[in-house]
Formats: sequence, C-alpha cells, structure tokens
Amino acid sequence: MSKKYDTIVIGGGHNGLTAATVLAKKGQKVVLLERRSVLGGIGAGEEFHPGHWSAGLLHETGSIRQHAINELDLKKHGLVTTGERASVAMLGKKGKCITLYNDESRTVESIRKYSEKDAEAYKAYRSFINKITPLIRDIMDQAPPDLVKMGNKDLWQLVKKGLGLKKLGKATMMEFLKVAPMSVQDFLDERFETEFLKAGMAGPAIYGSFTSPRSAYTTLNLLIWECLSTEEIVGGPQNLIASLQKAAEQAGVEIKLNNSVKRILLDQDRKVKGVQLGNGEEIESNVVASSCSPSETFFNLIEPNQIEYSLEHGIEHFRSRGTTAKLMLALDKPFTLDEFENELQFLRTGNSWLEMEKAYDPVKYRNFSNEPILDIYLGGKAPEGHGSLSILVHYAPYELEGGWTDQAKKQLEENVIETLVQYSSIKGSIIGSELLTPVDLAERYNLPFGHIFHGEHAVDQMLTRPIPSCMQYKTPINGLYLCGSGSHPGGGITCMPGYLGAKAILKN
Ligand SMILES: Cc1cc2nc3c(=O)[nH]c(=O)nc-3n(C[C@H](O)[C@H](O)[C@H](O)COP(=O)(O)OP(=O)(O)OC[C@H]3O[C@@H](n4cnc5c(N)ncnc54)[C@H](O)[C@@H]3O)c2cc1C
Repeated sequence: MSKKYDTIVIGGGHNGLTAATVLAKKGQKVVLLERRSVLGGIGAGEEFHPGHWSAGLLHETGSIRQHAINELDLKKHGLVTTGERASVAMLGKKGKCITLYNDESRTVESIRKYSEKDAEAYKAYRSFINKITPLIRDIMDQAPPDLVKMGNKDLWQLVKKGLGLKKLGKATMMEFLKVAPMSVQDFLDERFETEFLKAGMAGPAIYGSFTSPRSAYTTLNLLIWECLSTEEIVGGPQNLIASLQKAAEQAGVEIKLNNSVKRILLDQDRKVKGVQLGNGEEIESNVVASSCSPSETFFNLIEPNQIEYSLEHGIEHFRSRGTTAKLMLALDKPFTLDEFENELQFLRTGNSWLEMEKAYDPVKYRNFSNEPILDIYLGGKAPEGHGSLSILVHYAPYELEGGWTDQAKKQLEENVIETLVQYSSIKGSIIGSELLTPVDLAERYNLPFGHIFHGEHAVDQMLTRPIPSCMQYKTPINGLYLCGSGSHPGGGITCMPGYLGAKAILKN
C-alpha cells in the first residue's frame, strides 16, 4: 500500500471538496479521489454544444450556507455572492408572468397586476417565512441528534429544537404545525387565488421528490427551500467549485483526478483500512469519507458480503429513483420574453394545478410527461449574440417503460420544446441540444438511479438521512463516513453534508 493518510475523501463534488478542506484545515493529511477529469461533480460546467456551456447541471445556488463560506474562507479564494435572492419569474400561458424579486415590495407590485388579494397574501406569506426561518435553519444547519443512542447531549439538542418551536410564539407555532404536513396545493390554495402564481411557487416543493403538489408534506419542502434560499453565487456553481478548489489546495488537500475508487478495503474486523483504485493501486487510511450516493457507497464500493442485513435493507429502501431529466438548448439568439427585465435568470412553468398533476401522473406508470413542468435557467455561457437554456424537466422516470431508447429521448425533447413554445417563441432559434435522462445522469456522475439529490427529499428521509444508523455521517462500518448529498441536510448546493460530515470525523 502507498503512503498513509488521515482521511481519504471519495468524490470531488462540492461536498467532497468541502469535507476535505475542513479536515485539512484542522491539520489532517487528506487525499481527495475523483473519478472524472474535472472537479465539481454535478456542479461541473459542461460544454454541450460548441461555445455553449451549461452552468453545471444546476440552476440555483442560493442554498449555499454562510458559515461554510466563512469557515472555508471562500471569499478570499474568489467566491463572489450577489447579496440577494435571485428573481424568479412564474410563467403562465398567453404571456402571463409574475416575478418574485428579492425586494418584497417589487414582488407585491408584480402580483398586484393580477390580483389585489394575492398581493396582500404574499406579504403575510413572507412574514410567516421570516418568522420560521431561524427554526428551519437551526434544524438544517446542524447534525441531527443521535436518535439511536440518545445520550444526554442528544436529548438536550432535541429539547432545544422543541424550545425553538415554542419561541416562534403561539400563533406562528400553531400555523407551522398545521401547515407543514399539508400538501402544497392545499397550503397555497388557502392563501392565493392566481393559478399560475400558485403553480410556479409550488416548484421547489416537488423538486427531487416522487410527489405532486397534491402529495402530503410537500409544504414542508417548500418552507425549507424558502427559508434556506438566500443569495446566489455570481458565476454559478463553477465559481463555487473554483474557490473550493483553491481553498482545498491551500489547506494542503492532495487532489487526484481520474482516480476512480473501486473498493473500500476493510480488515477482518470490518474496519476501514484504505481504498483500492480502478488501476489496482491501494491507498491506506483508517478513515474514508464518501461523498458518493449511499447506494454507490454501500452497494458498489463495499464487498457485498461485508454488509450486514439491516444496513443493506435500509439503504436499499432509501428512495433514490430519479424523476428529473435535464435539457440544454443552444440558441442562435438570446432568449427573450416580452415582459422580462435583464436581471431575470430563472423561469418556472406549471400554469395550473391540473396541468402539474397531469405532468406527474405518467411517472407513476414509468412514463414521462407530454407537457412537463419546466425550471429554466438562462445564465449558461454562450457566444456573443447567442443564448443557452438549461432546463430541469419534471417528470421523467429512471426506469422508463421500454427503456430510454433514442426514440424515447427524442420524444421527451420534443415534448419539452412543445411545452416551451407555449410560453415563448424559441422554435426557429434552436441550434443544438443535449438531453440527460436520469439514466444518463446515473452513468455520467456515477449516481445509481440518477437521483438529482442522491436520494429523495421526503419527510421520512430528512432527519434520519439516509437511514438511522448512518444519520450522524458515521456508518456501522468502523472508519467509514458519509459526506455527500445522501446525508443530512440533503441535496442542493449547500456544502452542508460535507461540512457536517467532516465535523463528525473530527469529533470521533
Ligand atoms: C440536473 C440537476 C440539476 C440540479 N439543480 C440544482 C439546483 O438548481 N440547485 C441546487 O442547489 N441543487 C441542484 N441539484 C442538486 C445538486 O447538484 C446536488 O445535490 C449536489 O451538486 C451534489 O453534490 P455532492 O458533492 O454531494 O455530490 P456530486 O456532485 O454527485 O459529487 C460526487 C462526486 O463523486 C464522484 N465519484 C462517484 N463515484 C466515485 C468513485 N467510485 N471514485 C471516485 N469518485 C467518484 C463523482 O464523479 C462526483 O464528482 C441538481 C442536480 C442535478 C443532477
């Protein structure tokens, strides 16, 4: 075996980079192994048509956490943030559009054009979000209490969370307890009347989950997203990855690209002793932090006979079948819509509850939508005078009936474009495209089942993520830790699973 490290980090996505840097800054000798030739994982930029780049596969970067930025000194390493939430346009058909701005009063005026009642309701909605934000942040920014061991410290942490709920005051606490388990459709119907506004607002509630707006607990997803979404990163995820790389290098992390881990090696007592690479080389360490998805970690990187049944059963039932595809479009002119201001980068379709429900139905039967819900990002790089659209497509199943043949892919792409032309006239300007189905995402990013968050954001997969015996990043395999999106607080560009995973290693 080659030289010994304190920790081997598997995966150079933003969480692997974060974990490695936190550990190296504390004096650990860390090597980070990434199978691809680039860092960034899902956040790496891809040229999908000559001169046209997607901003990673991602759209929004507003969930990045301030304390991770500060602790890793990312601003010193080039990270620039906008200082405000991104403006997002809710599109309705026939040219309708309401924009949710960082500035609440501008948003209220945008809504007022369609409904006086909704404009007032939005103020109450934001006030509620502002009141519950400290509670949600407290839950999502810390490692969950160890509900399995439940020592005094864990008990106290639980009590504190309960007190946080009480601190909201009676009215807000009761409202939160009432609405969190609701379907997002019921929640928004109680407050707003404009159909396309409600449909657009519900977008984040169904991201990365096998649910529709009528599903229970989707309100909780929306509230979490609203409370955690703050300022965007200038230059998108690539800017984050570049600054993370610099921070990692300065902290002394050894970064090895094109180094795919084939096996996590265990000794006869099932303790980690290192990893074996695809080329047969072995690297020694008693601690391995995996930022790959839980299924990749336990089912592909560990010898099958070394996993106990309860662990295998738990991970097997951690729901992570992808329901989202991604379409990149290269345009020979910049994308415009009549009502749009230049600052706008994000658009959401949906239009009505009925249309969203119809878009969801096929995925239950292993099919894709005829008229999918689209999340559109306009900020990809393109040559002067051209445009780049990066579109998240809801819903498209991992296990498509009949498989993802070329014909099936062509059909889904056509469905997206036909949907898009109902909102904008782009048809003649498309000069290139790339569609990534959940199967393509799985192959390119080594992401079993192609789930965009390494596992669904569902209420039962939040606090005990991915499963109770691994919820504190430490796993039942001595020396093996998780530090990717399959751990609390889940997927998204947050740096948190990497940050908290590294803290768990330092604590043990
Ligand atoms: C299409 C799409 C759109 C998204 N949009 C958004 C968005 O708008 N906003 C948002 O906040 N989030 C979004 N997400 C989710 C977000 O991108 C992910 O949750 C996050 O990037 C995951 O980061 P990570 O570091 O945990 O994992 P990853 O980025 O998946 O990194 C894991 C790394 O491990 C490497 N790896 C895997 N196996 C091995 C191995 N055996 N050996 C060595 N290396 C290995 C992979 O190559 C990869 O680089 C989106 C995801 C997708 C797929």
